[in-house]
Amino acid sequence: MINIFQPQLGKEELEAIKNVFDSNWIGKGKLTFEFEKKFADFLNTTYQNIRSTNCCTEGLFLSMQLFNIRPGDEIIMPTISFVGAGNAVCANNAKPVFCDVDKRTLNVRVQDIEKKITKKTKAIILIHYAGVPCDMDKIMDLAKTNKLYVIEDSACSISSTYKSKSCGTIGDMGMWSFDAMKILVCGDGSMLYLKDEELAQKAEELMYFGLDRKSGFSNSVDSKWWEFELSCYGHRSIMNDITAAIALEQLKKLPRFIDIRKRVHDIYSAQLKSLPWVDLPLEIPPDCTSSYYFYHIQVNQNIRDKLALFLKENGIYTTFRYYPLHLVKYYGVNEKLDNAEDAATSTLCIPIHHSLTDSDIDIIISKIKEFGKINHL
Ligand SMILES: *Cc1c(COP(=O)(O)O)cnc(C)c1O
Repeated sequence: MINIFQPQLGKEELEAIKNVFDSNWIGKGKLTFEFEKKFADFLNTTYQNIRSTNCCTEGLFLSMQLFNIRPGDEIIMPTISFVGAGNAVCANNAKPVFCDVDKRTLNVRVQDIEKKITKKTKAIILIHYAGVPCDMDKIMDLAKTNKLYVIEDSACSISSTYKSKSCGTIGDMGMWSFDAMKILVCGDGSMLYLKDEELAQKAEELMYFGLDRKSGFSNSVDSKWWEFELSCYGHRSIMNDITAAIALEQLKKLPRFIDIRKRVHDIYSAQLKSLPWVDLPLEIPPDCTSSYYFYHIQVNQNIRDKLALFLKENGIYTTFRYYPLHLVKYYGVNEKLDNAEDAATSTLCIPIHHSLTDSDIDIIISKIKEFGKINHL
């Protein structure tokens, strides 16, 4: 089976883990700190605004506490969002307000958000679908006018930039995932960006029991280092030096990963553009760069499922991300969001990852073409 996502790990990561074992310290330590610093450099931001955590979903949950979201507050998010974002809002007794997206890019547009703003709206959680940045200038203007926090779920957009600024560092908070299906992987892990350094400090406390920095856990007190004080009831959601060691190696390889993904993207676009029944992803806006996280094609909704099945039977795994949250019954919303619903029945994400071989790419393209012929499209 040709996988839709696949990591690329090698001897460098193994060697790095070995060094951690040899160091006799596998917890959160200097490698985790080094990863935070290097990731901050990579984003072109300062490490004071960056904190690591165990997963991106934890960052989404944390955002509710950091921005003091109260029961009844409304949080707008595109319905094409990651389930963890919806859960974070609901678990805090706030109300997720799902909005529509652009039919082709599946990104939220400023007018989609604007329609949903009420007096109770406190924040927007957005994602940069497939790694293509949203129209951030307009969204930031709207947020400023309405005093809304902007939270960028940047799990798809690790290397994406909007007008030379890294996605995830444009709004008030951003988060990246390094789970098994992302571009940079380390098992599990995540990075958070907080525009406000004090909030970054607060996040650090929330992610480690709420222990007060000045008390014993910092290891720097001269006496009675076993005593401690709390500033809040925090979790324990940290990375460790094993996962950080892997992540540091992956970070070095990231530019190459992105180049390979861009190449796959470009080959697909060149080879599939002759098919009148397939709509390709739109061009990436000129002032943006993408991370090429998905390659999504769009076909008539009568044939999308059939195409997915045909490809699966031919050893090619595809999927659709992200199933619209307003259709998830458990959230209990009653909405009709036309573009998202259309996209959910016509969009198919085909394999794109940095371990895809040229022969894999050829097979995928020829099988898609074959499907078209068989069905007289
Ligand atoms: C994977 C993903 C997440 C969650 O990341 P974890 O680290 O697995 O918690 C959040 N948002 C998006 C868009 C994702 O793709």
